[in-house]
Amino acid sequence: MKADKTFADEVMKRSGQDIHACYQCLKCFVGCPVAAYMDYKPNTVIRMIQYGEREKVLKSHAIWLCVSCMTCGARCPNDVDMSAVFDTLREMSREAGYAHEAERTVVVLHEEFVRNVKLWGRLHEVTFFIPHMLRSLDLFSNLPSGLALMARGKLPFIPKQIDGIEEIWRLYREGYKTKGELGQS
Ligand code: SF4
Ligand code: SF4
Repeated sequence: MKADKTFADEVMKRSGQDIHACYQCLKCFVGCPVAAYMDYKPNTVIRMIQYGEREKVLKSHAIWLCVSCMTCGARCPNDVDMSAVFDTLREMSREAGYAHEAERTVVVLHEEFVRNVKLWGRLHEVTFFIPHMLRSLDLFSNLPSGLALMARGKLPFIPKQIDGIEEIWRLYREGYKTKGELGQS
């Protein structure tokens, strides 16, 4: 596959992270709680970006497994925040139309989370999980734990909008800006 020389520049601009600072010390990989399940480890993803392997990276499962715990960024001697890099890669993967069926549950989870917070100002689990279950065609895996929580009164059925919801809507209107877009790299 031909190397895409613009890939690293695009990822760096959008994520605000200096990909070329990485010298493969593996600290991110060793500290990552989900690295064992990734097809490419965090440090390997960095190397692939440096080599311009756009399609391989944007089609990987690893980018959908990162849970943004930020352990890697805290451990990196060069301040590379891989959670920001993975956020960027997920956006680029969606834009390129690569977020395929295997990632459907994760993509739908992200979309419904954002939609729910916009609606109520914080997450309301019931109105979050019902559309998520329907859209991901996964109707039953979370049902027993959801019903058990409801029985204990831990999941309020009726949602309540927070005070000052206009501030949340303002954030949505103005859009999320990465460190790169804010010029704080
Ligand atoms: S932020 Fe993502 S890549 Fe980094 S340690 Fe956490 S799960 Fe792993
Ligand atoms: S911890 Fe930082 S320098 Fe080390 S491999 Fe990971 S990204 Fe590269």
